[in-house]
Amino acid sequence: MRQRLTARAVVVGDRSGTVVPDAVVDVEDGRIAWAGPAADAPPAGDAEVVALPGLLLPGLVNTHSHAPMVLFRGQGEGLPLDRWLREVMWPREARLTPDDVEVAMTAASAEMLRGGVTTSVEMYFEPARIAAAVGATGARAVIAAPMVPLPGMPPLEEQLAAAVDLAAGAPDDGSVEYGLGPHAAYTVPLPLLRRAAELAREHGMLLHLHVAETAGEGADLLAEHGLSVPALLAAHDVLGGRVLAAHCVHMDDGDLELWAEYDVAVAHCPASNAKLASGVARVRDMLDRGIRVGLGTDGPASNDGLDLLADVRLAAQLARLAGRDATALTAAEALWLATGGAADAIGRPDLGQVTAGRRADLVHVDTRDLGFEPVGDPADLLTHLVWSGVSRLVRDVWVGGRQVVADGAVTTVDAGALRAEVAARAARLAGQS
Ligand SMILES: [Zn+2]
Repeated sequence: MRQRLTARAVVVGDRSGTVVPDAVVDVEDGRIAWAGPAADAPPAGDAEVVALPGLLLPGLVNTHSHAPMVLFRGQGEGLPLDRWLREVMWPREARLTPDDVEVAMTAASAEMLRGGVTTSVEMYFEPARIAAAVGATGARAVIAAPMVPLPGMPPLEEQLAAAVDLAAGAPDDGSVEYGLGPHAAYTVPLPLLRRAAELAREHGMLLHLHVAETAGEGADLLAEHGLSVPALLAAHDVLGGRVLAAHCVHMDDGDLELWAEYDVAVAHCPASNAKLASGVARVRDMLDRGIRVGLGTDGPASNDGLDLLADVRLAAQLARLAGRDATALTAAEALWLATGGAADAIGRPDLGQVTAGRRADLVHVDTRDLGFEPVGDPADLLTHLVWSGVSRLVRDVWVGGRQVVADGAVTTVDAGALRAEVAARAARLAGQS
C-alpha cells in the first residue's frame, strides 16, 4: 500500500536542522519511499493522499528508559536517594508480577506514542513482557535484558544466558530488538560485564549500562583498582561494539577520550539528572569529540514524565547554563539528539530521520496554535518545536507506516482502561489494597 503525506513542513531530524517547507513524504511497505519539497515530488499515482496542516518529524527515539516504572511515578517525592530506594522502591518492586510489568509497559508505551516517541530503549525486568506490550501498542523497543544481583533473581550467568536465548527469538521486522543490560560497574561484577560485552559483540547486540550517574558511585572501584569507571571498563574489555552508556555525568577529559576511542555512545538524561541532582553531563564536549549522544527520559520514577520533547528543551537549557554560553547547544542539535542523533547512538540507522529508505516512523505536530506564531522563516518552526513547549500538539503518529495515534488519541489500546489498571496495580504494590 502506498500513501502520500503532505505537510506544511518536514523537520528532517538531521544535525543541521533541515526544515523542508511545503513537503511530501511517500510511504510504501513501512518505509519512506520519497521525501522532499512538493514541487519536486514524483507523480502520486494511485497513492492515498493525506493532507496534514502541521509539521511532520521523525518518530522520537528515547535512548534510556525503565518505562514500566510508571507504576511508581511520583512515589516518595522529595526523599533522599537512599530512603527513596529502601522505603519506596524496593518494597514495591519486591511485589511486582510479570502481569504488572506488561500492563505498565503498555500504558507507558501509549503515553510515549502520544508524545511522539516511537522507539524506546528499555531496561527492566520481564523483557519478553515488555516486548508483548509494545506489540500491543504498535511502538518499537530495544529491550536490554536487565542483569543485576538481587535476592530472588537467578545467578547472573543464568540471567545472561537467558537474555541471549531471548534475542535469538526476536521478530525480524525491526519492532523489537533485544540487547544486554548489565546494570552498572558498581553493581555487577567485572567478569560478568566482560562476558556480557563479549556476547553482545558476538551477536551484534546493544550493550546498555549505567556509567558515572552520580559523583560517588565509582569511589569504591577507584579505591580498589585505581581507575575511573570508564578506564576500568576499557581495561576489562567491556568497551567496543554497540555500547550505550546511560548518564555519563561525571566524566573527566580522559574518560571522554576513551569514549571517543571506543565509540561508546551516551544516553543523556537531563531531566532525571536534574531531578536527582546528579549533575549536568558535558554534552558539548562529547559532541565536539565526535561521541554519539542520544536523549533519554530515564525511568518515570526519576523524571517523572516520558515527554522526550520536553527533555529536548531541558537539554538545551542545561547545556547553555553549564557552558554559560547561549550557543552551547542549538535548537537544531537538541532536537537531533532525540531523532537522528539518538538513532545513531543506539546503532539503528533505519530510524530517526525523515529520509528515503528509513522506516516510516512519523509524527504530525499541529501548528495551528498560538505556540507556533510567528513564523517568519521555515526554520522558526523547528525553533518553536524545541522552545515553545508544544508536545501537547502531537496529533498523529505512524510507526512503520501504521497509524497508532489519530487526532491526539492512541488507536491501538484503550488508554482509559489502562489508567484504571495502572492505578489499581500501583495501589496494590504500595501495600494499600
Ligand atoms: Zn537508568
